[in-house]
Amino acid sequence: AKASGRNCAQYFNRSLDDSLKERISLENALNQALKLGQFELYYQPQLDVKSNRIIGAEALIRWNHPEKGMISPDAFIPLAEESGLIVDIGSWVLHQASSQLAQWRKQGFDQLSVSVNLSALQVQKESFAREVADVIREYGVPEACLDLELTESMIMRNAEETIAALDKIHNLGIQISVDDFGTGYSSLSYLKRFPLDKLKIDRSFVQDITVDTDDAMICKTIISMAHNLNLQVIAEGVETNAQLELLRDYGCEQYQGYLFAKPLPVEQMTEHLLASPCQ
Ligand code: C2E
Ligand code: CA
Ligand code: CA
Ligand code: CA
Repeated sequence: AKASGRNCAQYFNRSLDDSLKERISLENALNQALKLGQFELYYQPQLDVKSNRIIGAEALIRWNHPEKGMISPDAFIPLAEESGLIVDIGSWVLHQASSQLAQWRKQGFDQLSVSVNLSALQVQKESFAREVADVIREYGVPEACLDLELTESMIMRNAEETIAALDKIHNLGIQISVDDFGTGYSSLSYLKRFPLDKLKIDRSFVQDITVDTDDAMICKTIISMAHNLNLQVIAEGVETNAQLELLRDYGCEQYQGYLFAKPLPVEQMTEHLLASPCQ
């Protein structure tokens, strides 16, 4: 038993070692990917619930790997966050999304907004508010057309620094949304202290909204609370018409999800914009 215990420990060490090597090589590969331009932004349409018009697009990063194909963000964003690389990747995303927004505006889609996902390290960087202001100026996009998504846990993790950065950004006129709202189980008092414009109801509540009365009640409550606080509401992960109808009944004003479209490469997103009745 002892011998096998030792083998087991050796095996364990070796596999830890391997996974460390794997992490380091993935880190190097991420660094290379940024330099070689292997990241790409997909865009998921965001719609007005009443008119079903496209009003925005959420930028979602993909890694277009030369051998492995398209890699989803869940496979590399966590490591990018741990290693700090997310700061540079996040800057790239901000530039790329703003440049794309400017491009769409040139094509006449001047009501469109673009939502960008942020990571905690990015927002905590002292220069973040200035970086956002510079990007807005560089691409000549209106402040109100840029929407920054932060999760509840990000907001809570470094409250004072984050408030200061968000205040500056919000004062510029940029929109701020709480992503995955309802999953952070933190005190809701931050809703008063932070400069927020919109709550995004997490997919996990929307998913069973038509069959689970608790989830339905949670969505209904989030929406009415948001409205009482003068916040807008967007629901994510809407996959069926029945879900959309309930959300409409509850007064939710925006939605996104597979019901209308998955995240799309730029050309396909542009096709949807061209076909959208608002143009
Ligand atoms: P998220 O911000 O909550 O994004 C929503 C995720 O749900 C996306 O996954 C999207 O493809 C997926 N989704 C959208 N509609 C539906 C639907 O109707 N049904 C289902 N089942 N799923 C739907 P994706 O693109 O794989 O992104 C995963 C996460 O990676 C994002 O979650 C976000 O946290 C992170 N992420 C993506 N892009 C960036 C980025 O540029 N920066 C940072 N920091 N994080 C990013
Ligand atoms: Ca998001
Ligand atoms: Ca989300
Ligand atoms: Ca989510």
